[in-house]
Amino acid sequence: MSEKFPPLIADRMCGKLAKYLRIMGFEVCYPPAMTDINLIGMAIRKSAVLLTRDRWIEEKMRDSSRADQVILLKSDDVYQQVCHVLDRLGIAGPPFVDNARCIYCGGELLELNAWEAKNLVPPYVFRTQIEIFHCPICNLQFWKGTQWQSFEGRLVNFSKTYSEGKKISENS
Ligand SMILES: [Zn+2]
Repeated sequence: MSEKFPPLIADRMCGKLAKYLRIMGFEVCYPPAMTDINLIGMAIRKSAVLLTRDRWIEEKMRDSSRADQVILLKSDDVYQQVCHVLDRLGIAGPPFVDNARCIYCGGELLELNAWEAKNLVPPYVFRTQIEIFHCPICNLQFWKGTQWQSFEGRLVNFSKTYSEGKKISENS
């Protein structure tokens, strides 16, 4: 997914959003606390899109003719935030989990073969999960458990509601 879309930078108020976008395979940088100016500088240097809840940051980006490099998130709800980002990136409908990334570091996950997985995850996970992934940076394992399924389900519903809502507001 990283080839098609610009890298994203999430500000400190968008940690949960960063996590969700990483699950979906987006390259998301979640830098430690830094000044707004440094954050803007980082987005410009990396040709990244800045995800922020800060109106001032959005204005600064617009003033520097970089409106296409900032997404101001107005909703508190992470599912609506995800839908907003997808919409701004021109992704119609849920793109689902191409190459999930590590929710902690954003690194690319590797799929483990059965032998490797067996030694790394609890037996019940090994028995019930078909795909088990590994983050080589954090040395952690991930699988599509019930939380993942509820995330996908909620997001499908949200993106439907979101696009229907948009159609209504565009037509009125
Ligand atoms: Zn990691």
